[in-house]
Amino acid sequence: MMRNGTRAVSLDLDNTLVDHSGAVGFAFRTVVDTLAERVDTYAVERRFRAAGARFKAEADRAGLPWWDVREQWAEALDGLNPSEAELDSIAARFTEVMDRSVRPFPDARPALLRLGGLGLPVVVLTNGDGRRQRAKLVRTGLLPLVDAVVASGDLGVHKPHARCFAAAAAAVNVASAELLHAGDDAVHDVRGARAAGVRAVHIRRDHPPSPDSVSDLLALTARLQEGRLRTTPAGQ
Ligand SMILES: [Mg+2]
Repeated sequence: MMRNGTRAVSLDLDNTLVDHSGAVGFAFRTVVDTLAERVDTYAVERRFRAAGARFKAEADRAGLPWWDVREQWAEALDGLNPSEAELDSIAARFTEVMDRSVRPFPDARPALLRLGGLGLPVVVLTNGDGRRQRAKLVRTGLLPLVDAVVASGDLGVHKPHARCFAAAAAAVNVASAELLHAGDDAVHDVRGARAAGVRAVHIRRDHPPSPDSVSDLLALTARLQEGRLRTTPAGQ
């Protein structure tokens, strides 16, 4: 089977293999519940989301995949005057609950098994701290189903930087043009991969499929099996 020249698959982690947004929501509610006597939960959530969106935009512009969640909480709790120690403990608890509660999407495990069945090595290419991201893969039971993990925190550059995609291809011993990358972020995953000479598919879970996107990872494996993935060379 030709599979359009694909010899290995690279997958994003957060919001592609695992439900990062769900974990953020759960951790937010867990933390807010401990403050509920004093706060207007709705207003805190609105400010938490607004601060998160602004910090993400700033981080994207700076080429960084993360921001300080303590600062995000400081803005969310604006007007409540939490002490420095309270903010430290809130940020630590939020991060701990978020990492502990992350779940794989239901299609993650069957899709990884199917890719294995197709003889395609899989590398997880994720923006984040290597230790934390590997711990998520262990906790969700997905680590034994992948061949390699490349975390941007270990590289010192983050997606969409081309070096990330080169490192992912090297980790599974294929050329960039033989790698197919799939992820949920249009800039980090799709545009970044194509600029690096890697074919890319956008995972858009709440959208109807298109020639360039699929709704989940099993749709991706089906397209690979049927040879229906776009053959347009990367970067075009
Ligand atoms: Mg992602």
